[in-house]
Amino acid sequence: MKLSFGIDKIIPNKYRIRLLQAFVLAVSIFGTLYYGLEGLLYSIIIYIFMNIFCGNATLHRYYGHRAFEMSTWKKNILTCLTHTMTVGSVLGWTGHHRWHHKYSDTEKDIHSPTVNGIYHILFKVWDVNIPRSMVKDLLKDSTIVKWHKNYFKWHLFVIAILTLINPWLLVYVYAVPNLLTLISGYIIAIVPHMSGDAENSILTEILTFGEGGHKNHHDDSSNYRFSKYDITAFAIEKFLKT
Ligand SMILES: [Zn+2]
Repeated sequence: MKLSFGIDKIIPNKYRIRLLQAFVLAVSIFGTLYYGLEGLLYSIIIYIFMNIFCGNATLHRYYGHRAFEMSTWKKNILTCLTHTMTVGSVLGWTGHHRWHHKYSDTEKDIHSPTVNGIYHILFKVWDVNIPRSMVKDLLKDSTIVKWHKNYFKWHLFVIAILTLINPWLLVYVYAVPNLLTLISGYIIAIVPHMSGDAENSILTEILTFGEGGHKNHHDDSSNYRFSKYDITAFAIEKFLKT
């Protein structure tokens, strides 16, 4: 059986993930036009936290590569927060990412700018099917499977709660930080692979808070530290690692 963002009872639906991302884009644009630019400062702070602790540390290095250990309570909180991101569930994203590592910059890579092209990365990557063997370990984790099954329900819940409290929160706490996180993901997928091979990239390092040591990461994905000045690795050492 194939693992994909298309639903097979376990996997988020590929159309729904796009709908969610389109919603995030629309709410970010129209919300900012309506409320103004002041709220963006809060969005940027949330985005920095979300990108370092959820996207880079939890999703990528903890679940994607099992590169460090953290205590159960930290893992539970960060797993919950990570599922408020609009890049799919931990299970779905990890399947895609591990496949990318296995076949990076080849015909089988799911997001190579030189092989598939940038259009594919931006719009088609959510269609790719990945064998379930890529996430064998995570399929044994009932919490992760439960999060996966309820991924869209969770988003609907978060959207509804924030809207009921104050639609301003939906714009600046949910939509804009998620849009920035999505852009950050696209930067990581494109910029360090532009030469047709994984390269270290200072631009990626600055824009993504630590993911720029990309060649180092591809050379040794079991190391949570990608480079000497890796901000995410600093956060892992200071706040997460047991
Ligand atoms: Zn990786």
